[in-house]
Amino acid sequence: MTTPSLAEFSTARHAERPILLTGGAVVTMDAATPDLETGDVLIVGSHIVAVGPDLRSDPHHGMIAATALIVDTRGSIVSPGFVDSHRHAWETQLRRSIPDVTDLGEYVMSTLAGIAPVYTPHDMYVGTRLAALTALDSGITTMLDFSHNSRTAAHSDAAVNALIDTGIRGVHASMAPHFGDWDHQWPADLGRLMSSFEHAGDGLVTFRLAALSTDEIAGPAIAYGPELAAIARDLGMWTSIDAVFGQSSSEAILRWADQGILDPTLTLIHATGLTGEAWAAMGDAGVTVSLAPTSDAQIGLESAIPAIDEALSVGIRPGLSIDVEVALASDMFTQMRALHAIQRMRATTIAYGGGQPAERISTRDVLDFATLQGATANALGDVTGSLTPGKQADVLIVRAEDINNMPLNDAIGTLVLGADARNVDTVLVAGTPRKWAGALVGEDIDALREDVIRSRDEISRRVAAK
Ligand SMILES: [Zn+2]
Repeated sequence: MTTPSLAEFSTARHAERPILLTGGAVVTMDAATPDLETGDVLIVGSHIVAVGPDLRSDPHHGMIAATALIVDTRGSIVSPGFVDSHRHAWETQLRRSIPDVTDLGEYVMSTLAGIAPVYTPHDMYVGTRLAALTALDSGITTMLDFSHNSRTAAHSDAAVNALIDTGIRGVHASMAPHFGDWDHQWPADLGRLMSSFEHAGDGLVTFRLAALSTDEIAGPAIAYGPELAAIARDLGMWTSIDAVFGQSSSEAILRWADQGILDPTLTLIHATGLTGEAWAAMGDAGVTVSLAPTSDAQIGLESAIPAIDEALSVGIRPGLSIDVEVALASDMFTQMRALHAIQRMRATTIAYGGGQPAERISTRDVLDFATLQGATANALGDVTGSLTPGKQADVLIVRAEDINNMPLNDAIGTLVLGADARNVDTVLVAGTPRKWAGALVGEDIDALREDVIRSRDEISRRVAAK
C-alpha cells in the first residue's frame, strides 16, 4: 500500500473522487460512531461519508470505497481536528513578548493600551494569518478569533481575509478596541462585514459578536447587555464574552438572566472566580463555556484556577482555548495537558489528608473538550468536532510511531499526553489538505517570516514614536 502524493490527493479531491483513510487507529469523539483500533474513514468532497473497520467490504459503502484513492494511515491516529474556542489572533507578531507577565493589568497596559492603537489593517492581517497557520500546523482545524482591535472597517476586513487566505475554519468574533482612536463603526459595521464576506472562503468563515462581561477595563460600550444582545439577535449571531472578573461578572450574569439575555447563544470565556449562583444560572440557561487553562493559571486571572469543576458541576462541558500568544503557547496539546493536570491536582488535593475523593477527569474528557465541545461553543457542533458521517472532513493524521509516541498503546492517551505539533502529519479542513506529510501546504515560510518580522518592527517603531 502506498500513500499518494499531495498532487494525487489534490487531483482526487478536486474531482470529488472518494478518499479512503485506511489502517489507522480511529478516534471519532462521537458517542454513536465507535473508535476503531484499526479502521477506515471514507471522505467524499468536503464530507465524511462513513467510518468503519473495513469499508471496502462493507455492504453499504463497498462500492464507493472501491473507487477511492487510498491513503495508508497505518501507524497513525486518525482523529477530528482540534477546535480553539478563543484566541486574540491579531497579537501574534507579539508572541512571547511578555513571557513572565505579572498579571492581567500588565497585559492590558502593555498590549491593549500600549501597542494595539498603532496597529494598521495590514498588521491585523499579518498577525491573524500567522496565528491561523500555526493553528493548522498543530492540528487546530477551527479557530475562533476574538478580534478585539477593530479600529476601522478595514481592520476587520483584514482579519477576516487572513482567515480566508489560510483555509482554516474560522470564526471571526468582532469587538471594538479597548483604548485609543477608532472609527466607532462597531457594532453597526457587523452587518456589512457579514454580508460582504457571505460568499467568500467556501463558507468556512462565520461571524459573531464579541464583548466583555463588565465595563471595568474599557467602559460600557463594549460590555454585554440588552443593546448588544439585540444587535446579535437581529444579525443571527452568537456572542463570545471575555468574563475575567469573578464578582462583577457574576453580578452581570445574574442581571442578564433577569433581562432574558443569558441564553445558549452566549459563550462565556475564562469564567474564573464566579459565584455558585452565577454558575447555576449559566447551567440553567444552557450557555457554552470556553476555558483558557494556561491563561488562567499563568496570567493569574482571579483564583487562577481553570473553572473545570464548576462547569461540570452544572452540566456544562467546556471547550478549550489558547487566548494570548504574548505570554502563552500556541497549540491545543498544551491546553489539554494543563487542564488534565490541574483538574486532577485539584481533585487529589481535596482528597489528601482524608477528604472525600473528588472526581477526576479522563484523557477522553479532555479530548472531548478540545474537539466536540469547542465546536459546540463555536456554534459548529453539527459541522465539525467529531468524525461523524455527514460532518465536514476536518481530520488529523497524527504519527503514533514517532520517537515520542512509540509504541502505540492507547490512542486517546497518546493524543492528549504524548503528541505535539511535530507528530501532526496531515491536516484536512473540509477535505482539503492544509498540512501534508508534516508541512503546511502552499505556504512559503521564509516569506511569511519576512512579513511577520517587518510588521513587528514597524509596530515597535510606531510605539516608540508615540
Ligand atoms: Zn481573551
